[in-house]
Amino acid sequence: MSFEPLGLSADLLRAVADEGYTEPTPVQERAIPPILQGRDVLAAAQTGTGKTAAFTLPILQRLTPYANSSFSPARHPVRTLVLTPTRELAMQVQESVEAYGRHLPLRSTVVYGGVPIEPQIKALRDGVEILVATPGRLLDHVQQRTVNLGQVEILVLDEADRMLDMGFIPDVTRIVQLLTTRQQTLMFSATISDEVKRLADVFLKRPDVIQISPQGSAAESVRQIVYPVDRDAKRELLAHLIRKHDLQQVLVFTRTKIAASRLASQLDRDGIAAVGIHSDRTQPERTRALDDFKNGRIRVLVATDVAARGLDIEALPHVVNYELPTHPQDYIHRIGRTGRAGATGDAISLVCIDEVELLRAIQRMLKHAIPWQVEEGFEPDRNAEARPISGYRPDQHTPRVHPGARHVRRVRQGRTARVAH
Ligand code: AMP
Repeated sequence: MSFEPLGLSADLLRAVADEGYTEPTPVQERAIPPILQGRDVLAAAQTGTGKTAAFTLPILQRLTPYANSSFSPARHPVRTLVLTPTRELAMQVQESVEAYGRHLPLRSTVVYGGVPIEPQIKALRDGVEILVATPGRLLDHVQQRTVNLGQVEILVLDEADRMLDMGFIPDVTRIVQLLTTRQQTLMFSATISDEVKRLADVFLKRPDVIQISPQGSAAESVRQIVYPVDRDAKRELLAHLIRKHDLQQVLVFTRTKIAASRLASQLDRDGIAAVGIHSDRTQPERTRALDDFKNGRIRVLVATDVAARGLDIEALPHVVNYELPTHPQDYIHRIGRTGRAGATGDAISLVCIDEVELLRAIQRMLKHAIPWQVEEGFEPDRNAEARPISGYRPDQHTPRVHPGARHVRRVRQGRTARVAH
């Protein structure tokens, strides 16, 4: 199917063609028509499915009657607000808005924490039709009266499941209460859990529900494999696999920031160019690391789940679970970084005895076993004993709060700082 039957305007079809897209992805095919009709939509679609264009394209079309080239800020009130959990995702969404809207005189900007607020204030003062924001920084602007949300018609909640995990819902609720002129709400989430459903009941009106892949399923274009290995041999095995298979552009996941930093510097010392990316790094540091990775100057990017959300890396060939996630759905998020847009990818998991329960939980969710292979020279010790994993309780397969969220909440309640990952 081509884009033409979806009902998009010539300007938008031209922008889509500029991007080189020839046919809509499933989520685009299903979401664009109801959004164009002004309906609320709840869509289960993970990063990599083309979900950003699925909401951005029809929103641009709905805002087209407001498009104008006036210099007067009053002619450019905020009409659409997109809330995202992370600054990377916010940046990426706004880049898409700019790209798809390049033939339309509509303005957009992005606001997120961790960077000076003044340039954002200036951009907001000039007027924008589309504002992409993380919740904390947006509330700062609300408090300082540097943004007016009094004419917002369309609200998008992107990666709603992650907003829940990160404890952002109270902030989101405060923001939604300010949107008195809201007519349409769109919610995107990697998976539709009961919590996401409850949220949708509060924020959406009779939404069209779009489920792209059955819940808990992984992209079929991803080859998954497990290497059983001893806890202390993981780094050596990772370096060995990278060299043996000449892996380039490898995204490696750890559970903690400390593990990410430590692994990145150890790999670097081993002669494999690597960098750790996590929420303690400044925005310029993260942007530079990502650029180096995309350009091939860095071979391995080591990330935590929180930091990896929203990283826009296309058609990533290899994802490695250096440590399995304690939340089985994070496994789906992680491997969703590979095998994108028709390309195949590898998802390699290095699993030690401590993680057997985590692997079981993941396989239960996938409803199939992941093939495994023992690498010669890395055979695990049969007599090894499992040690508990901090932050994981085996009786609780889907912890309601992401381990990182507790810290975020504490800091935020203390009003000492705003943390937007
Ligand atoms: P997203 O799920 O929004 O993060 O998009 C994942 C990637 O797919 C982005 O890099 C897009 O540029 C790309 N993409 C989006 N729509 C299409 C399409 N119709 N055809 C090919 N690639 C696309």
